[in-house]
Amino acid sequence: MIRVLVVEDNAINRELLRELLETRGYVVDEACDGQAALQMMEKARPDILLLDIGMPVLDGYAVVRKIREHPRLAALPVLAVTAYAMHGDREKILNSGFDGYLSKPVDAALLVEELKRFLPNGEGRNTPPKQPQGSNACSKVRSADASGTGK
Ligand code: MN
Repeated sequence: MIRVLVVEDNAINRELLRELLETRGYVVDEACDGQAALQMMEKARPDILLLDIGMPVLDGYAVVRKIREHPRLAALPVLAVTAYAMHGDREKILNSGFDGYLSKPVDAALLVEELKRFLPNGEGRNTPPKQPQGSNACSKVRSADASGTGK
């Protein structure tokens, strides 16, 4: 069972990634910002991180820096998932502690390729997911959205 932590402030993007991953047999946890992701990782033990760059509270660069300085998490594979497609960004990202780079919208085949590259036995199962649901640190935000209070 491979656990993927999706760190992304955009609810629609989180949902897309969750669906891509769960239909391929991965277990997905979600965090809405960098701070929440670091807190989750004090307990949860993801096998790999999909990390958005542009996020409130702590952005992707700050998160990956903290991960690389963390004794237990330093070797964790971290893939950037970002819409920043300008020249030079890829290099900047790969020089900032990320192991790889996926641009949005995420291509399913590329995503799976990257996961397999960083997880030696990292194949999700080809069966529909019957695994326990991953946790979601974003439910508060979601219900706030649903109540129409805003932003
Ligand atoms: Mn973002």
